[in-house]
Amino acid sequence: MATMPALFVSHGAPTLVIDDVPARAFLARVGEELGRPTAIVVVSAHYEASGVRVNDAAHPRTIHDFGGFPAALYEIQYGAPGDPALAGEIVELARGAGLDAATDQRWGFDHGVWVPLSLMYPDAGIPVVAVSVDPSAGPAHHHALGVALSGLRERGVLVIGSGSFTHNLHEIPRPFRQVDTPAPDWVQEFADWSATAIIEGRSDDLLDYRRLAPHGARNHPTEEHFMPLFAAMGAGGGVPGRRLHDSTTFAVLRMDAYAFG
Ligand code: ZN
Repeated sequence: MATMPALFVSHGAPTLVIDDVPARAFLARVGEELGRPTAIVVVSAHYEASGVRVNDAAHPRTIHDFGGFPAALYEIQYGAPGDPALAGEIVELARGAGLDAATDQRWGFDHGVWVPLSLMYPDAGIPVVAVSVDPSAGPAHHHALGVALSGLRERGVLVIGSGSFTHNLHEIPRPFRQVDTPAPDWVQEFADWSATAIIEGRSDDLLDYRRLAPHGARNHPTEEHFMPLFAAMGAGGGVPGRRLHDSTTFAVLRMDAYAFG
């Protein structure tokens, strides 16, 4: 079976599944381009926990973890099975890397999981394991988690970090529905710096992005949406990464995607 790359994807607003934008078109075709993995592991920005928590439910529930969006979005179910055995293995791999890890059934498939996967693999036929981020633990923790999972790729497991390349929701221009508002300079400059560091393979700079990147804290006032990048980077064997997509929604949500390994 083919070794899978690790991916970082930006999942955007929940409306990405219905908005006709380039990021949606990208996600709708990238699953086919990658081929069919044996299982999918998603490190989701919306699954927040202390340490590493791994959903080991046989049938994880779909979670609509947002308010004030169109009714149709609350009816979406992503019915992929879980994979309790793989979840247990991920816990052991993370513990082997010195991380505090445990299985968990508190959460499920949040929109960080089902927005990209319902576009990439709409049949929901591939087992999916959701893994948490720890917003307080920083890039090195998530990179170490990714490294611990890297061997899974050789068994055809697709590891996805699902976050947002930039994510300052306080600065979304109103009215919110103007999805095609272009990025302001402070978003563009951060995205350009980060893209260059990924493509040039500057992992130390990336891990220290909050100090080194222009407008780092403004683009990620809280860090949870950038941490899946480091999980993907670690899982894929490090940088350089390949840029698969770049676009902007709602001015401040860069939708960039990268492959590692
Ligand atoms: Zn999000």
